[in-house]
Amino acid sequence: MLLARVRAGGRIAAGVVSEDSVRLLRGTFFEDPVLTGEELPLADARLLAPVIPSKVVCVGRNYADHAAELGNEVPEEPLLFLKPSTAVSGPGDPIPLPAISERVDHEAELGVVIGRLCRSVPVEEAPKYVLGYTCGNDVTARDLQQRDGQWARAKGFDGFCPLGPWVATDLDPSDLRVECRVNGEVRQSARTSLLTFPPAFVVSYVSQVMTLLPGDVILTGTPSGVGPLASGDVVEVDVEGVGVLRNPVA
Ligand code: MG
Repeated sequence: MLLARVRAGGRIAAGVVSEDSVRLLRGTFFEDPVLTGEELPLADARLLAPVIPSKVVCVGRNYADHAAELGNEVPEEPLLFLKPSTAVSGPGDPIPLPAISERVDHEAELGVVIGRLCRSVPVEEAPKYVLGYTCGNDVTARDLQQRDGQWARAKGFDGFCPLGPWVATDLDPSDLRVECRVNGEVRQSARTSLLTFPPAFVVSYVSQVMTLLPGDVILTGTPSGVGPLASGDVVEVDVEGVGVLRNPVA
């Protein structure tokens, strides 16, 4: 199932996406949603970020080739950092280029969407706490990241965490193609089978540190090929089995 949040007719609703329509739901994905019977053409629905997370937890250097391209080792444990909820944006929302940065990079990532409260869960149990998967772009001001030593500023600007276009449920995340295209040209392409720490491991690991709430998102890391964005570019994050998240650069 593909679960989306849409703006339609002046209101915001959750919905189930099919080929070319959205069937609207009453309530949220997390509390026994029921179909309202209303359906609208997908073309008429403005898709929003599929969830409003309390936090976005990210894993750094989770693909060996990306760690190497920036001159880093793969860490022995997942390297965690946070993006603020205010960084989240949706499909079609512009990615800003802050004046204080001279290099803003795309980072295509598989996003794990948490479905229910999750605290100290073992790896084997972790998939039960996952609602589904989405595309994420861990937009990064690379120069500020290198200057600051920690990453709150470099990765925390408003609009630096596009998510979407929806949440795909019932998806096995163990070997999905993750691709980034800029203006149609492939810049990043890898498979999630190359993740050093796979999704279930990461969910379990994060849950030992902080409680994950329904709608929280874990971005699992980016493969090699990160590079700068310029005004007017269109960035696409394409995760096999999910869909394409497309954002213009402001
Ligand atoms: Mg990243």
